Amino acid sequence: MVAELEILTDAMSNLPVNVEQVIEDLGIQYFNEPMDKGQSGAIELKDGNYTIRVNSLEPRQRQRFTAAHELAHYLLHREMLVKQGRLARHSDSLYDEHAQKNVAVPFNPHHEVEANKLAAEIIMPRQQIERLYDPAKDNFEEMAKQLGVSKSALVIRLKILGLLPNSKPAQPDL
Ligand SMILES: [Zn+2]
Repeated sequence: MVAELEILTDAMSNLPVNVEQVIEDLGIQYFNEPMDKGQSGAIELKDGNYTIRVNSLEPRQRQRFTAAHELAHYLLHREMLVKQGRLARHSDSLYDEHAQKNVAVPFNPHHEVEANKLAAEIIMPRQQIERLYDPAKDNFEEMAKQLGVSKSALVIRLKILGLLPNSKPAQPDL
């Protein structure tokens, strides 16, 4: 577990965080391959081996988040896959209208929220954001580029970290 954390924290100190490399360094098989429309990725345990798949047909930034989501399941919930027995598989539909229909089996919606939170922390590490963020500058475009995420994903992350107000109240002109 210590070695796992080391691999992860090392990767998180270099932007953009190379999630696919972390997955491979942890000894998980990784496949970036075409999948059905709406399917984002999957994690599977078969005969003691873990495999993560990411849909290569989705935009690159989504692929990175999906990879981080599956990695988060591995780090947080793999025991639940083990309990499923010889063949255990979790499939994710994470975006747009498909996200509403994500079937969390063998996890539950709470585990999906946990995986999304850790995925955001992996690709947009708090430490890195705090280093890059300058309230005096509108450098979100540049930050998003460095992190390898979309600007909208970054803005959500900044709000969650409390660096941006959740909603902008109308400012009186003083
Ligand atoms: Zn999931």
